[in-house]
Amino acid sequence: MPPILKVPDDVETPLLGCIAFGVIDRGTNLLQVRPTTLCPLSCIFCSVDSGPKTSRRQAEFLVDLNYLLETFKEVVKVKGAHNIEAHIDTVGDPLTYPHIVDLVQGLADTQGVEVVSMQTHGALLTERTVEELEEAGLSRVNLSIDALDEELARKLSDTPSYDIERITWIAEYIAKSTNIDLLISPVWVPSLNDGEIPKIIEFALKIGAGKRWPPLGIQKMEVHKYGRKPKGVKAMTWYRFYRSLKELEARFKVKLILSPRDFGIHKRVKVPSPFRRFEKVRVRVVGPGWLKGEKLGVAKGRTLTLVDADQVKIGSTVSVTVIGVKDGLYIARPV
Ligand code: SF4
Repeated sequence: MPPILKVPDDVETPLLGCIAFGVIDRGTNLLQVRPTTLCPLSCIFCSVDSGPKTSRRQAEFLVDLNYLLETFKEVVKVKGAHNIEAHIDTVGDPLTYPHIVDLVQGLADTQGVEVVSMQTHGALLTERTVEELEEAGLSRVNLSIDALDEELARKLSDTPSYDIERITWIAEYIAKSTNIDLLISPVWVPSLNDGEIPKIIEFALKIGAGKRWPPLGIQKMEVHKYGRKPKGVKAMTWYRFYRSLKELEARFKVKLILSPRDFGIHKRVKVPSPFRRFEKVRVRVVGPGWLKGEKLGVAKGRTLTLVDADQVKIGSTVSVTVIGVKDGLYIARPV
């Protein structure tokens, strides 16, 4: 398991610019909030190679609560303090964050925030945590349940202790006994859980998921360069995925093809980017990146992920070329 680094205690770096942690602004009224990179599961389809069985990561990160909330509030000011959704969606599982309840509370208390949502596989959810999160102001849980069959659920999570029965019980508890809305968001792994998807839809409808938002958000398994891919599984084409969703919509009379509008997401002014693509920049190297071969560099109030940076020394200042600028995330290569 890679070492856990605290931001900013171990790595003093801004919370804008790096995909692994901090705040991500993709130009809408939804802000992604990433307090942790840790995950208790090792799902065989994980697009971010998370969990104890990771092979590509070299560091995990935990962000200081106040530092994260300060950054979040600054970003909200730029975007306009109205109708903001704070979406806690990490490259791991948000429930590994030791201050998750305080984080939800701090986000919910921020002027302009109307929705606080969280994406989780639920392995760490307990009745007590759910109650605390409800009290703190959590509006919605996007809960990934990829199989109801016990054995298959364990196989997909690659975690022998993964207990789908407990998680479905918690899901039902959220839907029936709390004000938190529940959206069940299975990852469809073709040829492995095809038969589970209709059962999961039936389950979501039976327990009353989706009071304010849709009850289901079925996710297409995507193959990422640095993610995990189950042997022999080929990702579905978008055409086939949407065609299958359409058939299931007709069968179960439920909306499954979703758009940002279903969640009240609209375009909104972006935090300005201090870099352009191919620009040369001097960066201070402050720590390792989350993936092997990477370092973190700092310039102009942003964290840049330096790739091909094995030889770059932490503590040095180096020239880099910015090779990726997208959604306020920066990738750079040493010159
Ligand atoms: S898919 Fe989610 S829960 Fe599974 S290992 Fe990856 S980050 Fe963790």
